[in-house]
Amino acid sequence: MNNQPEQNLVRPVVGRFAPSPTGPLHFGTLLAALGSYLLAKCSGGDWLLRIEDLDPPRVIPGSADAMLTLLEQLGFEWDGAVVYQSHRHARYQQIVEQLGVDGRVFSCSCTRREILASAPHSGEEGPVYPGTCRDGAYGERSERAIRLRVPDENIAYCDRILGLQSQNLEKEVGDFVLHRVDGLFAYQLAVVVDDIDAGITQVVRGADLLSSTPRQIYLYRCLNAVSPEYFHLPLALADNGKKLSKRNGTIGLVHLGNGSNMLWWALEFLGQSPPEELFHSSPEELLRWGRNNFQVATIPAENCQVKL
Ligand code: GLU
Repeated sequence: MNNQPEQNLVRPVVGRFAPSPTGPLHFGTLLAALGSYLLAKCSGGDWLLRIEDLDPPRVIPGSADAMLTLLEQLGFEWDGAVVYQSHRHARYQQIVEQLGVDGRVFSCSCTRREILASAPHSGEEGPVYPGTCRDGAYGERSERAIRLRVPDENIAYCDRILGLQSQNLEKEVGDFVLHRVDGLFAYQLAVVVDDIDAGITQVVRGADLLSSTPRQIYLYRCLNAVSPEYFHLPLALADNGKKLSKRNGTIGLVHLGNGSNMLWWALEFLGQSPPEELFHSSPEELLRWGRNNFQVATIPAENCQVKL
């Protein structure tokens, strides 16, 4: 394992918020913004903002700007310039090439259907890659993706909210894609390269990304970098028990009119018990209260339904 918390203790805290611009800001995204902001700011750290516009078909034009404007109106202040993943393809390409020189990646020609048919079983993230092209492409076929070879090893780390986590990469995920021939770089690659380049020391995000974390920690190891500390926040669930998301229509959407109430609810959801008299306060006052009173220890580990 490459996680070395003792080194993190001496590194100045740098946190980040990394939304995907796939629609308007909603309560679930606000939780990640608020949690990452307060954790960075309560220890005097920097808080950076990155727009994860990696996957063009999923990007909704204008949503990144709308999100940034709303965050600003709600009193969030980020350090430095906003980073856009769509501007960083050359850097991702360079890292894939470096991993190739180090012998860590291979070229894969399997189709999705073939993987599905030959996978030993399906993991949380879909079929586990069975290793078909690991030792050379299978047959005379064209390359479809570059995959990272993973070890038959448990990658363990201590999440600061959820405690000890562990995953066997080979058995539970398989060699995973870094770059698809159609041009798309994988989220797992981009997030690690961006966080390393920005000097991020703490990653605070929703627990839906928990099972991606061992892949990311392994990538840090391959790139000889120290992985950050991880804080996976509880998810806000809709009535049907599913993660509250853009698919729930206008439920949970944050806008200027309900922004400070939503911040109050977000503080409450994160176990911070904001005083009731602050419910109608300005966003700036709520953020100030959050910065002065934030406690990691009271963030609940359980996902929870919300009625907004
Ligand atoms: N872009 C991801 C999302 O909006 C977050 C990625 C991360 O925080 O690592 O869900």
